[in-house]
Amino acid sequence: MENLELFLNIFIIFCIFVIGTLFGSFFTLAIYRIPRKEDIVKTRSYCPNCKHNLGFFDLIPVLSYIFHLGKCKYCKKPISPRYILIELFNGVAFVLMYFLLGYTVKFLALVLVYVTLFLIIGSNIMQNNMTEAEKIEVQNKSKKKGVFLVELLAAVILFTVLMVVSYSIIRNYSPKSQETLARSNAIYLAVKAMEVSKACDYKDLISYTDQYTIDGVSYMVDVTVQKQSDLDFDKLDLISNIYVNVSYMLNDQPKNFEINTIKINDMNI
Ligand SMILES: [Zn+2]
Repeated sequence: MENLELFLNIFIIFCIFVIGTLFGSFFTLAIYRIPRKEDIVKTRSYCPNCKHNLGFFDLIPVLSYIFHLGKCKYCKKPISPRYILIELFNGVAFVLMYFLLGYTVKFLALVLVYVTLFLIIGSNIMQNNMTEAEKIEVQNKSKKKGVFLVELLAAVILFTVLMVVSYSIIRNYSPKSQETLARSNAIYLAVKAMEVSKACDYKDLISYTDQYTIDGVSYMVDVTVQKQSDLDFDKLDLISNIYVNVSYMLNDQPKNFEINTIKINDMNI
């Protein structure tokens, strides 16, 4: 089980790294095209030298660059190491952000801010690196305003969708989060049963068993009331004698969460 968890953690980190390099690959394209007022969503990637359209296997981050020894497959002109460096940098940056915040909503928010800043700063740097001829060409090319913002917005929306999709995939398929979710459901059911019992009059207070199914997991809620005597009791006796046990099966393993009002036992979790 621990080996599996380790394997999954490594797998998730690898996925985050790959997502980072994909972002990096997009960044190299976007920061080149945005200052040149070129479309970044519809137009296919092409070699800046021979303008040959790039195929699927030319677009694999990091690997395509290494495989073709940093040269364009079609015209053999060396490709700027900027491409592989930005891809690797972003792979590492995403893993670091993941280590910092885990796969949480905060992580998504940080990624969003990071993507926006990277595009703005990167585009500015690339704009400053443009030759005078290129700058003049761009100036003559288009007088339409706001193209930068529109395309930036399109890029951010595109990647928000990508992140949300990968986020939900990783969240749903990670056994760790499944376990956390099942456990918090068990705690919720236990606390609810306890609160209901505490609110009962002493004469109505009974032991009972209930069953709930949440997200495909069945929870047995056992409420056990150990009544001492009908005559001699006070409020403290009442609340210290309610026991709630929630048991459930997760990945063929029995789990349970048990509470009484005085002490809380957390077993097998
Ligand atoms: Zn080329």
